[in-house]
Amino acid sequence: MAEELSREKRMEALVKRVAECTRCPLYSPRRRIVVGEGNLDALIMFIGEAPGYYEDLQGRPFVGAAGKVLDRLLEEIGVERKEVYITNLVKRRPPGNRAPRKEEIEACSPFLDEQLELIRPKVIVPLGRFSTEYLMEKFGLKPAPISVIHGRPYDASASYGPVLIFPLYHPAVVLYKNEMEKELFEDARRLKEVLSKRGYI
Ligand code: URA
Repeated sequence: MAEELSREKRMEALVKRVAECTRCPLYSPRRRIVVGEGNLDALIMFIGEAPGYYEDLQGRPFVGAAGKVLDRLLEEIGVERKEVYITNLVKRRPPGNRAPRKEEIEACSPFLDEQLELIRPKVIVPLGRFSTEYLMEKFGLKPAPISVIHGRPYDASASYGPVLIFPLYHPAVVLYKNEMEKELFEDARRLKEVLSKRGYI
């Protein structure tokens, strides 16, 4: 039975199903899947938008320029990449790195839901507008623009227990709006405080 399988085995089966998925226009035999990576027992899960060019090449999340910013954020928060779990809302690269479309999010997000049930993180950090919108709605929280709700903790209830949602701006924002760096890193320090207060780090 699924419940008796290890998290590794369940994730392996999930990766296989993502690879076989042809539910949305992002499917292409030439495009790789980027399911996620990290600790399957992670307390903290980071959720980006969709793979970009380098992620598609390597089949790993956040390995390009935005990934370098994420690595610096993790350092600021005081957690290592291998301790946390990192994934995206959409598991294949949208052409030209355009934003994921509604039907693509609808087709792909059940995989993210499964990852949440499998890893059961106590803290979820959506990165950017798309994953923040998805998670606020999923957990019945009041939707608001990322510019309003970034850098604050929202307590919610997952099927497996309490969960904290802490939205951050997408790390790539720094790449095209230099002045956002200060705010993003202030939010990361706020997240660190919250994690420390709750005894998670
Ligand atoms: N941007 C994302 O949202 N995810 C990645 O994996 C890389 C860039």
